[in-house]
Amino acid sequence: MATTHNLGFPRIGAKRELKFALESYWKGESSLGELKALGAQLRQRHWAHQADLGLAAVSDFAFYDQVLDMSFTLGNLPERVQGFHGDTLDNTFRVARGRSAKGAEDHSACCGGVAAGEMTKWFDTNYHYIVPEFSASTEFKLDPSRLLEQLAEAKAQGVKAKPVIVGPVTYLALGKAKDDSDKLALLPRLLPVYAELLATLAAQGVEWAQIDEPILVTELSAEWQQATVTAYEALANSKVKLLLATYFGQLLDNLSLACKLPVQGLHLDAINARAEVDAVIAQLPQDRVLSLGVINGRNIWKTDLNGVLDWLEPVAKQLGGRLWIAPSCSLLHVPVDLDSEQKLDAEVRSWLAFALQKLGELKVLATALNNGRDAVKAELAANGAAIAARRASPRVNNPVVKAALAKINPALGQRKNAYPARADKQTARLKLPAYPTTTIGSFPQTGEIRHARSQFKSGALDEAGYKAAMRAEIERSVREQEALGLDVLVHGEAERNDMVEYFGEQLDGYAFSQFGWVQSYGSRCVKPPILFGDISRPKAMTVEWIKYAQSLTNKPMKGMLTGPVTILNWSFVRDDQPRSVSCYQLALAIREEVLDLEKAGVRVIQIDEAALREGLPLRKSQWQEYLDWAVTSFRITANGVDDETQIHTHMCYSEFNDIIASIADMDADVITIETSRSDMELLDAFDNFNYPNEIGPGVYDIHSPNIPTEEHIVQLMKKAAERIPAQRLWVNPDCGLKTRQWEEVIPALINMVAAAKTLRASA
Ligand code: GLN
Ligand code: ZN
Repeated sequence: MATTHNLGFPRIGAKRELKFALESYWKGESSLGELKALGAQLRQRHWAHQADLGLAAVSDFAFYDQVLDMSFTLGNLPERVQGFHGDTLDNTFRVARGRSAKGAEDHSACCGGVAAGEMTKWFDTNYHYIVPEFSASTEFKLDPSRLLEQLAEAKAQGVKAKPVIVGPVTYLALGKAKDDSDKLALLPRLLPVYAELLATLAAQGVEWAQIDEPILVTELSAEWQQATVTAYEALANSKVKLLLATYFGQLLDNLSLACKLPVQGLHLDAINARAEVDAVIAQLPQDRVLSLGVINGRNIWKTDLNGVLDWLEPVAKQLGGRLWIAPSCSLLHVPVDLDSEQKLDAEVRSWLAFALQKLGELKVLATALNNGRDAVKAELAANGAAIAARRASPRVNNPVVKAALAKINPALGQRKNAYPARADKQTARLKLPAYPTTTIGSFPQTGEIRHARSQFKSGALDEAGYKAAMRAEIERSVREQEALGLDVLVHGEAERNDMVEYFGEQLDGYAFSQFGWVQSYGSRCVKPPILFGDISRPKAMTVEWIKYAQSLTNKPMKGMLTGPVTILNWSFVRDDQPRSVSCYQLALAIREEVLDLEKAGVRVIQIDEAALREGLPLRKSQWQEYLDWAVTSFRITANGVDDETQIHTHMCYSEFNDIIASIADMDADVITIETSRSDMELLDAFDNFNYPNEIGPGVYDIHSPNIPTEEHIVQLMKKAAERIPAQRLWVNPDCGLKTRQWEEVIPALINMVAAAKTLRASA
């Protein structure tokens, strides 16, 4: 008999209830009691959804972040909030975001705002966790209260509870030693606290605990591998059975290690590491449970249940009761319920499964394994029909796109001449001064813009009225930029709700959900568009707006596009072809837009690749392959233009050290990046590499309401000029200005333009 279980459930709620409750508490509009009650209600609901499973995930719920919760469980609170008043949850929010609710900060003298904890991406997902902070003197002390509370609730509900905790090795690996001390030196202090935690759970009658060690799918040094062995040997006498969960990739050189650890079960991501199933079965001792993640917890497609059964049935025969089945990872990374979707294209909808539907699939698989396929004949037939329909759909397979893809060749990605020759022609044509100024694309999304958009969506405003409103906004931003004296202008992106959705909506092969929200961090959610078919561009997407903007000014107007890699990385993508193929299709579609803009007389075109870096695979050994197709895609998009047309790209981060060769290989004439907070030191990567083209290092931190002074900008640019020859430098903000107010943007840009003039005068 195969047992079913779940690794984690999305906690945000099918209608983002948790988001709204958190934000209302932070604003002081509701009480902590109300927030906690909502949390309990969501947990109850989510356990009810898992009632049919052999084991449900408990303590996967977090009000903000599960890694931060683990820090509190382990008593690893940053010193800056120790001794603060209020509930533990208030302290959780202080560490997460610098402050808790308005009301909770009444003690402002002793518990005022503190520095927010650092936040970073959870492996290769778009979920962000709060980085645990360590120093050589970090001590740990168990606080099991949150776990015990949730366990008691689960017990009262009759849930077959399996607590989920972040394992010690992953916990240490994901944290940061603020004093650069050796994190592994903390392991002997950490393990007794884990042992105590497991003993506490055992005392509550817990039989199985899930201990997450996704770090095992990354490259570990011999030292960290040894630490893993040490850790689990120290926990081997625990009275709770441990299911060691790995996910997001293959174990590769950690496979034997994972199979040897003295735990009672191992979970393997059989979506990403299906190829390793046989090796794991061969190496895992006979008394261990093997849990296989056979349903993709990261994507929104229906599972091919018959296909899974074809390979899983023999495995089940071999393993008998030792086989557990589950989604590949926590369902945190998918939306909650497809049944909420009323407007989604019916055909596309029939190919999808969100968290609840995935749990349903798990049940069908288990029934088929345990009672034979006949017991779920109708379900399997319906699933088979949906899978076949998707495979055969002309909306998925477009022969014209396939033919265009087959014709891709290196010449497509090759500019006519190398950068030095292009640079001369561009300078002559654009007539730019030294230290040219520009912005990254968006201007403030004002109340008027949002109002017009929602009126248009609800039908209260017709298309002509909406376009007129957007043109008025564009005109406003052009007038402002002329008054400011910027050199290369932008139209301001008023008509764009989101830099990916805007393009997705106009491309064939994309669909959009209404409630397909996924938690990104804290109360913030994103709704990734669904890339389901071969991508094509029925008509120009931006030309009309940019042409209008250009008609208002004699200054060069920059056309603004989102690049193929970013569109891909911020979408739910197809599982029936490699990511690279989807990316090339996007590249061909955006290339057409680039060429149309050029034809319309646009002389500067920016192609944003904000998310290029985040697509890097977890293992460094796989980076080059990704970078190769990502850079090729960008080059196909950008490099069909004439020498005189200036191509910009933008990336909103500044860690380029390890990918600088690929960035240079993109061959954009100008790259703008985020550098203002790092004091230009991050330009060293460009300096050391002798980066050959132009760079706009950000001088205005757009994440902060602070206005940079002229002196500060001059100073930053002088530091930049120590690293990059001045004739190749641009002056610009870190990123787009859409989240700021005009009242902040205008003085900041006045200072920026003044700084550029000062720099020119002293050049
Ligand atoms: N052009 C986009 C903007 O200005 C870029 C946003 C981004 O890099 N995240 O809003
Ligand atoms: Zn940016």
